[in-house]
Amino acid sequence: MKLVEYEGKEIFRRYSIPVPRKFGILKLGEDLGKIKIDKFPVVIKAQVLAGGRGKAGGVKIANNLQEAKEIASKMLAMKLITHQTGEHALTVEEISIEEASEIKREIYISVVMDRKISSPVLISSMEGGMSIEELAKNKPEMIIKMPIDIESGLMDFQARELAYTLKIEKELICQFTELAKNMVKLFIEEDASLVEINPLAITKNNSILAVDSKVVIEDNALFRHKELAELPDRESSDIEKEAKKIGINYIGLDGNIGCMVNGAGLAMATLDTIKLAGGNAANFLDVGGGANVEQITKAFKIILKDNKVKAIMVNIFGGIMKCDNIAQGIVEASKNVEIKVPLIVRLEGTRVKEGKEILKNSGLKINQADNAWEAAKLAVELAR
Ligand code: GDP
Ligand code: MN
Repeated sequence: MKLVEYEGKEIFRRYSIPVPRKFGILKLGEDLGKIKIDKFPVVIKAQVLAGGRGKAGGVKIANNLQEAKEIASKMLAMKLITHQTGEHALTVEEISIEEASEIKREIYISVVMDRKISSPVLISSMEGGMSIEELAKNKPEMIIKMPIDIESGLMDFQARELAYTLKIEKELICQFTELAKNMVKLFIEEDASLVEINPLAITKNNSILAVDSKVVIEDNALFRHKELAELPDRESSDIEKEAKKIGINYIGLDGNIGCMVNGAGLAMATLDTIKLAGGNAANFLDVGGGANVEQITKAFKIILKDNKVKAIMVNIFGGIMKCDNIAQGIVEASKNVEIKVPLIVRLEGTRVKEGKEILKNSGLKINQADNAWEAAKLAVELAR
């Protein structure tokens, strides 16, 4: 689960990581008047799930109320394309207003899982502000990596070593080591997969401030963090949210062939097969182990909510569930849902002969295929 900047900073506050003073959050349709600002300049920032907002116009400084109003009204509803969004622009629906900081120096610091060493690693660089991907490519020697023991967290000697390498001023070393240790503590306690501060600012009046935040929480650990699980889901589309509610594993994609498959592995293989046949899937959908009438009906409904879908390919392997039961399910479900696009079904497994017979005699217009490759080719053709 990815958090937006101001949500990440709320967690920073809980872990005593210093952040700029927040005046408020403004949502689309709200007026800046609702936020009390008693100090200028302020920094106004687009709260979207992508980095690189600065260069794309999503971070602006306002010196007075008039400027703040102009920037806020322009930024809300603006479409933001940053180097991280690809060509899909993000609509800015929320902005944050904070006290602007006078930045003397920018440092990069993050904690991330390193799968190779099966432990978190702290990554840091004196050259903050810019994208770490670029730095890793052009000046890899500027990046410091420090493995972390999850039992003891960041040790004092590690934090101090880091402070010296980053050439932190003497009077700020204590502040810095505390911050680094708290970041690691946050990472471990909140089951994060990424905690990033870019930039960590040294301000002109000599304090350390997390000017930006990026926090990603491991989805599989959300049950341990009720307050985080309750935050709005900003990553899923409306259809994905609905699918989640009814317990169907669904991810929307860009193509036009809707897929209904049982098992995540077979679902992935189906997407590949469609691609190989020259088409593109509209979704990943795993109906789960118990592909019964109810579940199949729900799945059809979900697939058809996406109006890009021009054909549906069902690829089900009858293992525990027998093919004749599944076929019965598909027939029943097709009566419950009006399927206006071509339906291609490939069944395989236990009692497949009986299953195919049921589909054939159902009186419904179902295109049957003997294998996944034939089904995919047919789906691509019929979706055209
Ligand atoms: P990002 O581009 O999405 O990573 O957004 P950031 O929050 O990191 O902001 C981008 C850049 O804007 C930072 O690297 C800073 O250089 C600058 N910036 C952000 N906030 C402030 C601020 O309060 N004061 C000043 N002077 N610069 C800021
Ligand atoms: Mn940043």
